[in-house]
Amino acid sequence: MPDGRLNIKNRDEYSLFVPSPIEHYRTTTRIKSVRFERISQDEVYRELKKKGLNIDITNPEIYNNGKKPMDGIFSPLFGADTTQDTPVFTCDCHKTTGGAKRGHICPHCGTEVRTIEADLRIQGHIDIAPYHIMSYHGYVAFSKIFKNLEEIITTTRRITRSGKVAKSDLPTIMDLYDDYDDLYAGRIGLDKDIVFMSKIPVYSARLRPLMKTNTQVAMLEVNKLYLSITNLRGNLKSTQFMPNVNREVEIQRTLNQIQQDFNGITAICNEQINSKSGVFRRALASGRLDNSSRLVITLGTDLQPHEVDVPYQLMMTQYEEEIANYYAKIQDVSIAKAIDMVSMNAMTPAPIFVEIINQLLKSKKGIWVLVNRNPTISESGVQYSRIRRIHKDYTDMTLHLPPDVLALLAADFNYMVTDNHRSPIGSNPSKEKLSERLTSGVCSLAG
Ligand SMILES: [Zn+2]
Repeated sequence: MPDGRLNIKNRDEYSLFVPSPIEHYRTTTRIKSVRFERISQDEVYRELKKKGLNIDITNPEIYNNGKKPMDGIFSPLFGADTTQDTPVFTCDCHKTTGGAKRGHICPHCGTEVRTIEADLRIQGHIDIAPYHIMSYHGYVAFSKIFKNLEEIITTTRRITRSGKVAKSDLPTIMDLYDDYDDLYAGRIGLDKDIVFMSKIPVYSARLRPLMKTNTQVAMLEVNKLYLSITNLRGNLKSTQFMPNVNREVEIQRTLNQIQQDFNGITAICNEQINSKSGVFRRALASGRLDNSSRLVITLGTDLQPHEVDVPYQLMMTQYEEEIANYYAKIQDVSIAKAIDMVSMNAMTPAPIFVEIINQLLKSKKGIWVLVNRNPTISESGVQYSRIRRIHKDYTDMTLHLPPDVLALLAADFNYMVTDNHRSPIGSNPSKEKLSERLTSGVCSLAG
């Protein structure tokens, strides 16, 4: 909403309506915009390694002597993956670790040994160099070139009767890598470093915690895949002791499996990001604003066009501060005590709070709120209304609307009442200030 006054064209038709003083609401912008970039995992790893911040995941054990190993997929270097875990103590380079060294300065990196917070940005890597698999972007790009890419990563070459690896029209992942610059780079148009990787990213264990009860350990699918890749990495390292022919096929088989596991991980990430329950829709594109309520609407037949009736519980939660301030004054108790009393009595009406709410609704211009029905397809979908009173029936959790506005709101179901105009908890305004605040209830709404 732009700064300043709402330009309400039919203001004169509502004599009770008095515009609020101009207020400037500062909003804290948490995310201004996002930008996506393809990144090279090998490059990320090189940068981390330069700073001594790389976490190499090589250990397929979940526990080692009752502790999660530093080089395992639940490495404490990600920070504690569940809130029950004891924190890990380490310096930046991870060479000096352990609670006993707390506060010591690491002789290698010169930083203090301290607890590390779970940091979702921390990445570990499973290093399969000198081999490579396709990155997420690489796999997507190659799938446009090879309709049978799935077949490429699931079949292995035969060994002929003479003990040689049979020729095949189907390339292997290693062939794709070796021939990339000659055969594919022109069509794909991405750097080889982006399309392939030898360092498989392992995202923070906080986002995929090991869930453990007294008797059971529950393993998320993504963790099974990470464990599988860690094991396969071990196999890959041991292939060097195999005879040549077997070795080539074994490496192919292992890379195929790593690729399939990694594809499984990216599919899980995709699902978590993009689906209906994904982070974008859950955290960015929807949800209720602070100081707003979502209510079913019903008809209040005797309401004036500018009036609504609301549940007791809505007043007690949305106007907690005002009610607590009022209560503290008339009962001569501390604000903290008053807030406790408001929240204790928020669900079942107590006579004194009903009385306070009635007072608030009566003082000066009363309490005004914005009522919005989604989808907001016309200007009449948002209305500025005065709260007339709370329902006598305290089990009624609906918003009562006057008959006159139903058509304007294309009314049937879901409404929201929002109040953005709040003061810090604990402030103790004079009576005058209090009623001034109550009358300037500029509200904004979302559905
Ligand atoms: Zn260090």
